[in-house]
Amino acid sequence: MKLTRSIIFLIFCLNGYNMQGQNISKPKVLIITTGGTIASQIDAPLVEGPALVQAVPELLNHADIEVEEFVRIGSSKMTPVIWLSLVKRIRTLLVERKDLTAIVITHGTDSMEETSFFLNLTHISPVPIVMVGSMRSSDEISADGPANLLHAVRVSISPEAIGKGVLVVMNNTISAARDLLKMHNNRVDAFPPPESGYLGIIDNQNIIFYRSPVKPHTTQSIFDVYDLDSLPSVDILQDFAGFDKEILNYFLNRNNEGLVISSFAGGRTSNGINQIYNLPNDHRPVVISSSIKYGRIRRNAPSSSPIIIARDLPANKARILLMLALTKTQHIRKIQEIFDEY
Ligand code: ASP
Repeated sequence: MKLTRSIIFLIFCLNGYNMQGQNISKPKVLIITTGGTIASQIDAPLVEGPALVQAVPELLNHADIEVEEFVRIGSSKMTPVIWLSLVKRIRTLLVERKDLTAIVITHGTDSMEETSFFLNLTHISPVPIVMVGSMRSSDEISADGPANLLHAVRVSISPEAIGKGVLVVMNNTISAARDLLKMHNNRVDAFPPPESGYLGIIDNQNIIFYRSPVKPHTTQSIFDVYDLDSLPSVDILQDFAGFDKEILNYFLNRNNEGLVISSFAGGRTSNGINQIYNLPNDHRPVVISSSIKYGRIRRNAPSSSPIIIARDLPANKARILLMLALTKTQHIRKIQEIFDEY
């Protein structure tokens, strides 16, 4: 009798059901590792992806975990080519693996703003992607990586994570990729709330979402990069007091497909930069983005110029949006519409 019951129990468990017939199978989460401080050790090479995840056994209380090491780099070495292969790899995996509930990506914080924004616009699927990093290396006292990773997995399987675009989990908070701002070099609270606030918070018991992003992302995005091997090249130029116009000339004559100026507040520019207003309107696009992190550029660009206003997007994200917009159109006013919408 006992034996029969154990066999039945085993069959139920194998099928993902308990003795009461309740579904006990756990969601499946794929953790894609890319390196960064979350995988780093003091004076030692970056930890391999699987080891990074094995160090947090609590993950298994919440999900069946699989790990794929994609790259192992400091995120200041991230490139658009790696972004493209990452989003393509994710697309392929999701075609092959209908059983995946969510994807968590471990990543360095240096370019987290960029990679998350890129994926937010090119991951054309409702399957949640949650990115996570840490500010302290894995062998430092009070390392923040393990808790951040556990929180990221919990957020990724939360039904409320669906439809909110790519999310970033750090230090008990949930941010929308579009709004993420790294503002501190060292502290665990390096990502303070953006102007629109965090999307939500995480505590030991609960995941609480307060709002949803309304700017188009993931399934609403028009940017399908699946067939591309490279992205249009776009440079960023920082304006400063006394800017020498020869620097601008160099960038205007360089072999790029667009330029982003990181301007003073409100989109104001030095005399050295101001010659962009004399460029013919069929020149390659020049985007003006404010280097001030909060607020937006309110004024519009002169209509017969190749100038586009980035509104509230910082230069690094304006560059990504321009690269993606250029895969759709070269038309300056249409690109401005994309900036106003996204
Ligand atoms: N060096 C790290 C990186 O890969 C910094 C970090 O992860 O916080 O971005």
